[in-house]
Amino acid sequence: MKSRLILAAILTVLAAAATAQSISQPRIIVAISVDQFSADLFAEYRPLFRAGLKRLQSGIVFPDGYQSHAATETCPGHSTILTGSHPARTGIIANEWYDQSLERADKKVYCAEDPTVPGSSSTNTTASAYFLKVPTLGDRMKAADPRSRVVSVAGKDRAAIMMGGHAMDQVWFWNGKSYVTLRGVATPAPAIIAQVNAAVAASVAKDEMPVLPEACRSHSHAVAVGDKSVGVLRERKAGDWPAFRTSLAFDHATTDIAIGLIRDLHLGQGAAPDMLAIGLSATDYVGHTVGTEGAEMCAQLLGVDENVGRILAALDATHEPYIVVLTADHGGHDLPERIKVHGVPDATRVDASLLPANMSKRLAAEFNLPDPVLLGVSPFGDIYLARTVPENLRARVLAAAKSHYLAQPQVAAVFTADELRRMSAPAGPVDEWSLADRFRASFDPERSGDLLVASKPYVTPIVGFGSYLATHGSPWNYDRRVPILFYQPGIAGFEQALPVETVDILPTLAALIHLPIPTAEIDGRCIDLDGGEGHTCQDERR
Ligand SMILES: [Zn+2]
Repeated sequence: MKSRLILAAILTVLAAAATAQSISQPRIIVAISVDQFSADLFAEYRPLFRAGLKRLQSGIVFPDGYQSHAATETCPGHSTILTGSHPARTGIIANEWYDQSLERADKKVYCAEDPTVPGSSSTNTTASAYFLKVPTLGDRMKAADPRSRVVSVAGKDRAAIMMGGHAMDQVWFWNGKSYVTLRGVATPAPAIIAQVNAAVAASVAKDEMPVLPEACRSHSHAVAVGDKSVGVLRERKAGDWPAFRTSLAFDHATTDIAIGLIRDLHLGQGAAPDMLAIGLSATDYVGHTVGTEGAEMCAQLLGVDENVGRILAALDATHEPYIVVLTADHGGHDLPERIKVHGVPDATRVDASLLPANMSKRLAAEFNLPDPVLLGVSPFGDIYLARTVPENLRARVLAAAKSHYLAQPQVAAVFTADELRRMSAPAGPVDEWSLADRFRASFDPERSGDLLVASKPYVTPIVGFGSYLATHGSPWNYDRRVPILFYQPGIAGFEQALPVETVDILPTLAALIHLPIPTAEIDGRCIDLDGGEGHTCQDERR
C-alpha cells in the first residue's frame, strides 16, 4: 500500500512538472492496439522508428505498462484497454473457454461469439460482444450523449469488438478473405470498404517479395526450427491468404479503412466527441509464425511505425483536437529455439503429457472413468473437470489432477477455482502482484476452469512445429508488459517507467472529456496527463 501511495505521489509530481501546456479537450479519441507489441519489442525497436511511433514518443510514454492479468491473450487483453477493468470483471477470461452448460454439442466457446445464435459454434462463430460483461468507453460516451459515434476497425473480430463494445456505429474486421461487419449492424458499407477489399484481393493474387529495410539487416539471420527456417524475409506466393496476415499489406489495409472512415464520417466534427478504435493485428501473426527477433518482426514494426504515421496525418487533417493512446493486448516472446541460442537455456516447448487430452486420458484410466475427464483449450490456464465425472469422485479426481500437474517440472503453480474465489481482487502496484494475484485478475467464477495451471517461464505451450511456432498467454512479465503511449499535438511529453496498467486508460481518457466514471465500476485509475493548467483527473469520482 505504501508503494501505491508513492506511485500516486510520483504521478502527481510528474504531471505538475510536465509544463504549462494544457491538453485540449479532444473531439476524437483514438485508441490503437498493436497486437503482441510487448514492452520488450518497443524497447528494442524504438530507436528505429521514424514516423508515427517516433512522434508518439514525443508525447507521454510509459514504456513498462501492464496487461496485469495471467491470461495474456488477445481477447482478454483487448477487453481491458477501453473498459478500465481486468478480465475478472469484463468476463473475457481467455480467447476460448469451456461452457459445459451449453445446449449445443460443442462446449467450447469463442470470446467474441454469440452462442445463442442457431448454428453458431466455436469454429463457425457469429461475431458478437455477447460475452463482454461491461461497457466500453464508446458505450459510456454514447450513453452520455447518443450523438457520439463509435467506430472500430481491426484485423481481428475480437480486437474490434472488445475495444468497440455493445453500441458501435461502424465495426470492420478481417474474416480471412475480406473486411466484414457484424450481423445486425445495419449500415450501408462506406465506399472505403469495397475499395480496400478489392485492393487486398488484387495484392493477394500476386507473388510478393518483401524488401528488407536497411535498418533490419542486422536482424536477418536464418534459424532452423524443426523442419522450418525463420529469420529472413520470404516471398509470399500468389493466392496464399493466410500469408496475407503476416505481410505488411495487412495492417496497411486496416489502416486504410481507419483513415477512410476518419475522412468520410467526418469524425470529430459532430455535436459530441467520437471514439475510434484501431486494432493492428499483423504483428501478432508475425510473432506466432516466425517469432519476434528476426528480420520479419523488424520489417513489420517499421510498417506499424509508418501506418501510425498515416493515422496521425489523417487526424491532423481533420483540424480537430484529438488524443491518441497506443498500447498492446499482451506482450510476447521469441520462439524457444532462438531464445536458447540467445542465452536462456531453459527455453523449451511444452511436454506433450501436459496436453489436456493426455492428462485427461491418464485420469480416466486411473479412476476407470470415460474420457474426457478434463477439458482445456491449452496445456496451461483454465482446466475444467468434465460434468460426466460423478459427484462422489469429483474432489478426488480434481486433487489427483492437481498433483499430476504439480509433479511436472514445467508447471510453476496450480490454483483451484475455490482458492481464487476466496481471494479478494488484487490491489497495490501491479509489478508486485503474486502469481495468484495475476490469476485472480483473470478469474470469473462463472466461466473459469476448476484448475488454473501456470507454466514455468519460457515454456512455449506449442508441442511441435505447425503454422504457429511461438506464442504468449503466460502470467510472466514478458507476456504482461506493454507500452502505453498518450499523444496530442503539442502535448508536453514525459517518460516514466512506472507500472501503470491498461485498465488506467479508460478513466484517463474519460477525464479528458469530463465523462464521469463511478470508481466502483472499474479497476483502473486516472493518470493525470497534464498537471500544468489542466489537472486532467480533477473530475474523477473517487
Ligand atoms: Zn493478441
